[in-house]
Amino acid sequence: MEITFWGVRGSYPVPGPQTVRYGGQTSCVEVRSSEGGCLVVDAGTGLRALGQKLAREGGGAPGRYHILLSHVHWDHIQGLPFFEPAYIPGTTISVYALLTAADELQQVIGGITRHEFFPVPLEAAPAHFQYHEVEPGVRMTLGEFMVLPIALNHPFGAVGYRIDCDGTSVAYVSDTAPFTDVLHKQHFLRGLETLSEDDRRTLDQIRADLVKALSRCDTVIYDTHFLPDEYARFPHYGHSTPDQALEICVEAGVRRLVLYHHAPGHGDDLMDKIAKEYAEKGEALGIEVVTSFEGMAMVIGGAP
Ligand SMILES: [Zn+2]
Ligand SMILES: [Zn+2]
Repeated sequence: MEITFWGVRGSYPVPGPQTVRYGGQTSCVEVRSSEGGCLVVDAGTGLRALGQKLAREGGGAPGRYHILLSHVHWDHIQGLPFFEPAYIPGTTISVYALLTAADELQQVIGGITRHEFFPVPLEAAPAHFQYHEVEPGVRMTLGEFMVLPIALNHPFGAVGYRIDCDGTSVAYVSDTAPFTDVLHKQHFLRGLETLSEDDRRTLDQIRADLVKALSRCDTVIYDTHFLPDEYARFPHYGHSTPDQALEICVEAGVRRLVLYHHAPGHGDDLMDKIAKEYAEKGEALGIEVVTSFEGMAMVIGGAP
């Protein structure tokens, strides 16, 4: 397998002189099998350039695409209306997501192109969109890929994905808070009060299931939006620090951790510092730590 990062930011796009080297587009990763099979994980603004490449590769012919969404916050879906294959007649686009709202996925995702927001509704696009609800712990086979959705701790829920193919594995764990201070499912119902015993048990279970799902995974892409002092100020925002990601990945026996979903305010110079500091921390713990940047391609499972 090979993966390519088309957007590595969280929250909102930040193009400009401060983000030249790490990039300013939001969450989007392309996963390729050795046979040429393709999965898209998340549809942030990075999806636009990926869509242009896929349309070019297809020579304008209709194609079949699979897009796995972690959740439906803007920075994970905003690229969908700008995905070029959506405008090629005969194309089918399957979108997979956790059902996190009372509405149907079609209404939630299609809602981003309501006429007040966008000139052309997704349902009027020439491609045919199919929506599939995923369930944490229930595996799916998509072409040659085996995909396992994993529950995460994020406002209104999110899912990570472990993808096995070509005898190796990559996992995408974004967005998630750690499993200590806030249980997001409860947070919006009750506010940020002390966790009950039940909440703690639920968090322990989510964490245990995540570690199990990541067990011996070759490469894990993890939401490391915050530095530790930022997390201390915003524990209820639903994101982790590189230290929290390291703890989970070391416990799961992961070979390589990729820092991802960078905070929009972290410019290139700060990102360099973070990359260096955590590469060293990882080395001391026996795990390779790489900081993702827009355009970065990576072979999964070592050299081809
Ligand atoms: Zn996000
Ligand atoms: Zn989010």
